[in-house]
Amino acid sequence: MACSQNPSDSGHHISGSAVPKPLGTDPLLKEDAERLLEKAPKRSEPLQLRRRWPRPRGAVPRRPMGIGIINFCANNYLGLSSHPEVIRAAVEALEKFGAGLSSVRFICGTQSIHKDLEEKIARFHQREDAILYASCFDANAGIFEALLTPEDAVLSDELNHASIIDGIRLCKANKYRYKHMDMQDLEAKLKEAQKHRLRLVATDGAFSMDGDIAPLREICQLAHKYDALVFIDECHATGFLGPNGRGTDELLGVMDKVTIINSTLGKALGGAAGGYTTGPKPLIDLLRQRSRPYLFSNSLPPAVVGCASKALDLLMESNAIAQSMAAKTQRFRSKMTAAGFTISGKDHPICPVMLGDARLASVMAEDMLNRGIYVIGFSYPVVPKGKARIRVQISAVHSDEDIDRCVEAFTQVGRKHGALP
Ligand code: PLP
Repeated sequence: MACSQNPSDSGHHISGSAVPKPLGTDPLLKEDAERLLEKAPKRSEPLQLRRRWPRPRGAVPRRPMGIGIINFCANNYLGLSSHPEVIRAAVEALEKFGAGLSSVRFICGTQSIHKDLEEKIARFHQREDAILYASCFDANAGIFEALLTPEDAVLSDELNHASIIDGIRLCKANKYRYKHMDMQDLEAKLKEAQKHRLRLVATDGAFSMDGDIAPLREICQLAHKYDALVFIDECHATGFLGPNGRGTDELLGVMDKVTIINSTLGKALGGAAGGYTTGPKPLIDLLRQRSRPYLFSNSLPPAVVGCASKALDLLMESNAIAQSMAAKTQRFRSKMTAAGFTISGKDHPICPVMLGDARLASVMAEDMLNRGIYVIGFSYPVVPKGKARIRVQISAVHSDEDIDRCVEAFTQVGRKHGALP
């Protein structure tokens, strides 16, 4: 049967002569939406003032001097989103493979660049195989349901990312939530979960609100003791944590003990989009057959694949960029602490400046922008009540002068608003 392009041929006729109302004008829908919105946290979507990151030159990205707003709230940890080689790789992939594949992977959406990137990701993490997704949100949404049955159990840190929580909701396994990084509680839950066929401990490698790092050594010891698998989400670790930037498992010396890694291509690895799972080959084979976001969502666009692939090449050639970011993180953390601020976490480029009061965090963030520093205040319900903060994120693309300018602005604004004496 020939395919019709005419919607009136589709068999779905609009009954009667009423012209359909534009979406969003139905009073019921409007009231419902307003009621739900009232309960939701209010988040603005500020327009990026300086839309482009400076183009870094040389091995270590540098931000050229100049006046402008300096962005201290992006996940662009390594500054690779504006790296000339990353941009060139995207353009080349675009020219060679087109804008997109107009297909999911298993129909006609797999090109050599997808297979090459999957192989490269697996090599980077020293795992057997990898599978690409449109995002890490999708990778997290797809894995638990595909892997776990009602006879199994998943044990999840209470502060895990929303996408892990949603992924776990979708699966039929027995669910246990352990207190944040609390090994006693995890052990108690593991004991309880012995009755199940298989146990999977799921944790963020690095937690994005606090910049703290999961105690993976202890988690892996407990997993070994109670015969469980370990899953980590490495979105805030891949590319820069550990001696070669492999992530939290490398940093803590447990690369051979963590079974499954999910991560993103949308943060340190070029910042475009995309996510992946890497781990044992049989698991990846299973995901290709059973993971719904993989099976039923479009293939990653070539330009996006090109960016990530080049970012990984750069990181496998040298860890100079990651080291540069680590030095700048150290500079920021020590200067801010010396100025009298409390910075949560340790050594991570996510540097939450702890302020406590929600209003203080919001007015200080606004005043920072007046001084050319772009940062965002976080308060309840995104973080616990009384733990409001301004989250600063350091990038390799920041210069030492940028860091010092940020610390100076914090000091002035902190004194003005009573956060510092
Ligand atoms: N996991 C964590 C810990 C994250 O911070 C994020 C993004 O904010 C995601 C998963 C989702 O990643 P993506 O943006 O690739 O969907």
